[in-house]
Amino acid sequence: MTSSVLSTRRGDVSLPQFVPDATRAVVRGVPAGTLPQSGVDTILVSTAHLISQPGTSVVRAVGGVHRFMGWSGPVISDSGGFQAFSLLTGQKGLATVSDAGLSYRFSPKQRFRDLTPKSCIETQLHLGADIIYCLDYCTHPLAPDAEQEKSVALTIRWATECRAVFDRLMADTPPQQRPQLFAVVQGGQRADLRTRCAAALMDLGFDGYGFGGYPIAAGRLVDEVELTARLLPPGAVLHGLGIGTPENLVAAWRCGYSIFDCTLPTRNARRGVLYTTLDTRNLADEGKVSRIARMSDEKWVRAATPVDPDCDCELCANYSAAYLAHLFRVEDSLGHTLATVHNLRFYTRLTAALRARVTGAVL
Ligand SMILES: [Zn+2]
Repeated sequence: MTSSVLSTRRGDVSLPQFVPDATRAVVRGVPAGTLPQSGVDTILVSTAHLISQPGTSVVRAVGGVHRFMGWSGPVISDSGGFQAFSLLTGQKGLATVSDAGLSYRFSPKQRFRDLTPKSCIETQLHLGADIIYCLDYCTHPLAPDAEQEKSVALTIRWATECRAVFDRLMADTPPQQRPQLFAVVQGGQRADLRTRCAAALMDLGFDGYGFGGYPIAAGRLVDEVELTARLLPPGAVLHGLGIGTPENLVAAWRCGYSIFDCTLPTRNARRGVLYTTLDTRNLADEGKVSRIARMSDEKWVRAATPVDPDCDCELCANYSAAYLAHLFRVEDSLGHTLATVHNLRFYTRLTAALRARVTGAVL
């Protein structure tokens, strides 16, 4: 259980921190300038998506991803490895992997884009992100041993190349103006492989380490994140990639993770599924910390109260649950926006409660 601060070139990030996914340089339906009102400090963009659309050169021409999307806080960019993995395991012919790197396209009509260790680092520097990731090769947690071995070997090899490219390109940049460089631990469910991967990455030395997403099989979250946290240096900044539900976020935090990103709160919001009733009594154990409110439920049609009376977000401070239910029934995009604002606020209230728990502050 850690609470501290991660200093980036665009300011301090209080830890633990929930980071919304702004995959295509947008938290869907929400202007970036209003995100701090929901307690959001930092956002995460997808390198693979921005290469494809609008293209790195466009973002660069506009002055970088911050100016492009109107956001002045820290930005994390992923490596693109996870996107390529998703395409590799989906429709045939959308992605390939070789020792040199990954090639991918989002549809058969597009041309292939290459992600090599060198281009991965160069692209993220051109985007202007403040925390960037080494290229990694992700696999399914239950993939055959040979595939897990290949994943770890390529991830270590590419991280070595990324470290060298980053150090060369940043040689003349003062340390306080450089982005942070993170690496991803792979190895699936094989503890020996994950140990090998973590040890090699530690030898290279990074500002933080990511683990999560697909390497975690259903129902194994605590076992897997706990082992990986134990492999990494004490006090290291650990990013739980794609983690997760409020309860999984708390479980990973108890294992030592302090940055979390997930599409769940924003995607669920657009489906009219809201997180409510933050229960801070269960932060130290495995109890529920949230409840789910579905706007499709008849009980909200005449509800004069806010969706969550304890929440201070734009939705709960100004509108009844009945109004939000109405917006979803008439399919107005304002419903998506207000529900997203609420779910993000739920997550940032949760991480604020975790920070307060460590420091002893009263919320
Ligand atoms: Zn709210």
